[in-house]
Amino acid sequence: MRFPKNKPSVLLILTAALAVSCGAGRPAEPADLVLTNGAVYTMDAARPRATAVAVAKGKILYVGDDRGALRLGGGSTKVVDLGGKMVLPAFQDSHIHLVTGGIELGLCNLNGLRTKEEVFEKIKAYAAANPGAPWVTGGGWDLPIFPQANPRKEELDALVPDRPAVLSSADGHSAWANSRALELGGVTKDSPDPAGGRIERDPKTGEPTGTLRESAAGLVDERVPELEPGDYIKGLKAGLELANRFGIASIIEASAYPRILDAYAALDRSGELSMRVLASLHVDTGKGTAEVERLARLRDAYRGARLKSTAAKIFVDGVMEPHTAALLEPYLDRPGDRGRPLLEPAAFVGLAAALDAANFQIHVHAIGDRAIRMSLDAFEASGRANGFRDLRHHIAHLELIDPSDIPRFKRLGVAANFQPLWAYADLYITDLTIPILGPGRSRWLYPIGSVAKTGAVIVGGSDWSVSSMNPLEAMQVAVTRRGPDDPPGDAWIPEEKADLETMLRAYTTNGAWLSHDEKDRGSLEPAKAADIVVLDRNLFEIAPSEIGRAKVLLTLLDGREVFRDPSFTIAK
Ligand SMILES: [Zn+2]
Repeated sequence: MRFPKNKPSVLLILTAALAVSCGAGRPAEPADLVLTNGAVYTMDAARPRATAVAVAKGKILYVGDDRGALRLGGGSTKVVDLGGKMVLPAFQDSHIHLVTGGIELGLCNLNGLRTKEEVFEKIKAYAAANPGAPWVTGGGWDLPIFPQANPRKEELDALVPDRPAVLSSADGHSAWANSRALELGGVTKDSPDPAGGRIERDPKTGEPTGTLRESAAGLVDERVPELEPGDYIKGLKAGLELANRFGIASIIEASAYPRILDAYAALDRSGELSMRVLASLHVDTGKGTAEVERLARLRDAYRGARLKSTAAKIFVDGVMEPHTAALLEPYLDRPGDRGRPLLEPAAFVGLAAALDAANFQIHVHAIGDRAIRMSLDAFEASGRANGFRDLRHHIAHLELIDPSDIPRFKRLGVAANFQPLWAYADLYITDLTIPILGPGRSRWLYPIGSVAKTGAVIVGGSDWSVSSMNPLEAMQVAVTRRGPDDPPGDAWIPEEKADLETMLRAYTTNGAWLSHDEKDRGSLEPAKAADIVVLDRNLFEIAPSEIGRAKVLLTLLDGREVFRDPSFTIAK
């Protein structure tokens, strides 16, 4: 064990003593765990740096220097010399589909595949390995792999000739079906596009080509046999394991419906929910304000030790690449077409005001500049109608923000929930987005830096399984505006870079605030929950292009180990 060479300051000794005496005098029992000789970033403005943390009974007992922490040890205390490793509050992912993502891991999982050949190979192999599955389902294919983001039914027929197959895109907004699945879904050239959806068709014959956008996917999905409750629980367990591995100890579930809530509630009851979960209840916007009563019942039913369901999720538009995002001005390649919001502005205002009046925190999906403006307008109108209260509404995704709307986040107290891993010039941007927006508008894609400069609350999420869950990769991209595997070089829209401090706050303190938990967690302060992560390196001492390569060694939730890398040993 090493002691810091500097003598601790009087102030530190004093605060150490206070940390102990604030409770019930000297602790009756010693600390369970003492971490020393670390680069501790507390995310507490009053004391941002320390070298040691002591944990007892699931709470932080002490933050300060090594000597103060070691004084709290006893015979049963585990002491770890971190050798300069970084300690942070555990991460929060503020927009994630943990259960469905976990389920997908066990289906035909196409996430991360880069070429058509890889995708075809995987589908063929999955179908061969699962001959008894009545349907081939799953997904995760990347839109840019296929021309116009439009894979064809004939391709899937060749891979799965014997049964129906439907595979969702990585962003979840498109589905690729084979002929058998289209037939079962009753999708023919005479089928009209459903409200809020589009059937991609051959321009000459009108025949469906195999890709279904947004609600049109439901025509086929309805025919897929329902999953069992056990499948949801299995999926959640797989998702939890992965998330804990990435240092995540709290999440905002982005779109919860009863079967998903059942899975969270079951593991919460059994003590296996290794995560704090704020579930955003999926709103059927077609039902309008009649939904509020149903959601309030779900809010009451689904709450437990680590689960609360106090948010409502509204989808305002689709996504950019297949032209389903709602824009203020038309797509360049489709004169007059500026996309359609999934609900009318007046209906949105009415729904938002009713949810706000019922004390729901509103979590919105908005991609296009028109959808984002509609959301800000709806929050402004609800605030006017009900009074601006501290509900902490937020907008997720924020792909294209009109510059005139940027100051409104701070002004209205609306949090900006970015998915920073998307903020670099990948094929989605260069091939499918910039050509349909043009350079002028493209300047305002994912403007994290500009929103941060206004002082608005920035939070971060992965949207997993849409993209990798690793918060460190997302932070790296936000800081560099380059791909997670790219070497150092020119940033894409360098004005929109965010600094590391901002991104760490986004995934820790600001996340806790968004979940209304800031009094209990989110920073390393005595009496707060011991939700802690240890990284193998200090992010402030490495090149920004290396941030994503840092490894999580330990994740604690309420002081309990929910992930530990085998290389990291804790001896007694
Ligand atoms: Zn999402």
